[in-house]
Amino acid sequence: MTGKTSELTLEAAQKRVRTLATELEALNRRLDEQDREQRRARSRQIRYERIISSTPDLISLVDGEYRYRMVNDAYLENFRLTRGDILNRTVADILGSKLFRDVVKRLLDRALAGETVRVETWIDLPEQGRRFFATTYHPVSIDGVVEFVAVDSHDMTELKRKEEALQTTARRLDMATDAGNIGIWERDLATDENYWDKKTYELYRVEPGEFGSIYEAWRARIHPDDFPEVEQKLAECIETKERYEMEYRLVWPDDDIRIIRVAGTVQTDEDGSPVLLTGVNWDVTEHRRMEDELRLLASTDPLTGASNRRHFMGRLNDELERCRRYETPMVLLSLDIDHFKDINDTFGHPAGDEVLKDLVRLCTRTLRTTDVFGRVGGEEFLAALTQTGLAAGLRTAERLRRNIERHAVSTHGHSISYTISIGLTQLQAADETIDALLHRADEALYKAKHNGRNRVEIA
Ligand code: GH3
Ligand code: MG
Ligand code: MG
Repeated sequence: MTGKTSELTLEAAQKRVRTLATELEALNRRLDEQDREQRRARSRQIRYERIISSTPDLISLVDGEYRYRMVNDAYLENFRLTRGDILNRTVADILGSKLFRDVVKRLLDRALAGETVRVETWIDLPEQGRRFFATTYHPVSIDGVVEFVAVDSHDMTELKRKEEALQTTARRLDMATDAGNIGIWERDLATDENYWDKKTYELYRVEPGEFGSIYEAWRARIHPDDFPEVEQKLAECIETKERYEMEYRLVWPDDDIRIIRVAGTVQTDEDGSPVLLTGVNWDVTEHRRMEDELRLLASTDPLTGASNRRHFMGRLNDELERCRRYETPMVLLSLDIDHFKDINDTFGHPAGDEVLKDLVRLCTRTLRTTDVFGRVGGEEFLAALTQTGLAAGLRTAERLRRNIERHAVSTHGHSISYTISIGLTQLQAADETIDALLHRADEALYKAKHNGRNRVEIA
């Protein structure tokens, strides 16, 4: 061995050691790096696991044989199971074979074929009963092959129940408003935009889109004479924030006049400022017509159509008060058919009825519309001539008596002539009630009968 050789060898060995040290250092660095990467991956995994375990969603990982490979805590809690109970068991074991066969298998198969499937449905669970779930089936692939399905179910039962309750309420409201023919409307007070439901469009005889806006349609249909009051009432309601009810007339496109009743309320925001006007409206035309008819029935005599006794006395009272207040004259006539019993006896009761109707026709024609006339007994009538003094009253009474005397009623095959006696009296300053007036008219009539009938007497 030469010194040269050993020197070279030593040098080579030292170089080799240095190289090895460098390589070792690099290896250590790589190992450290890998370690850190692994720790990062692990902490990422822990983070995901925490999220999965803390979410109320039911999350499971199912393999191609429909076996559970992972479930979160919510899943276990929901089914009251432990991980040991569930892992490696099949979906059919846990959910029941019927639910698996009818619903879940089909969805898992679609996800296993690579599709992300989302379904919202009621599910009958073995323990909890009927629940509404929104479920997503995500395919999970490893190296490009779908090996698992991640199933994420969100329990929306409470939300769904609230939604269904709301729908039920809305349906009930619909039925009620429909049954009552009631339309609903709304006005947003910030934007002045209006809403009408279908029924309100019908009530106003407006086609959707027929006008530029609902406001224009509304304005076009309301009777022009009623519009100012309607607007004022709405403004008042907004101002006072009090509920209101009113009636106004609509003019339909065929010029038919309808009466509509409207009730509305104001909704306010937290500050108490009005934000929304909401109300209902319905057609009351027929009601009002019926009321008018009833009022007429209650105030008139069905045979002749003249005012009945009660109604006449009410109006005579009003006239007396007016005359006393304004100090205007008035004359009261008491009319009674002469020997009416004989007419009945000779021609029959129905013919007598025709005579009564005839007398009313003649009186109505002779008197002014401002005069008050009524049938107060069988064949007794009263007429209050307003704004009329004694002389003018006498002329009218005389004209009436003469007209009747000169004419005949053709009925039931007869031509019937008849006469009347009239008692006349004038309103006097001392007449505080109608009683004195009525009494004097009676007296005058008695005088007319006593003095031979078919004449006018004054008291
Ligand atoms: P006078 O000239 O004194 O008035 O004789 P009169 O026969 O008219 O008198 P009275 O008051 O006694 O008779 C009224 C008759 O009127 C009696 C009644 O039968 C009849 N009468 C009352 N109401 C009706 C009715 O609605 N229809 C008919 N046809 N007759 C009636
Ligand atoms: Mg009579
Ligand atoms: Mg009589």
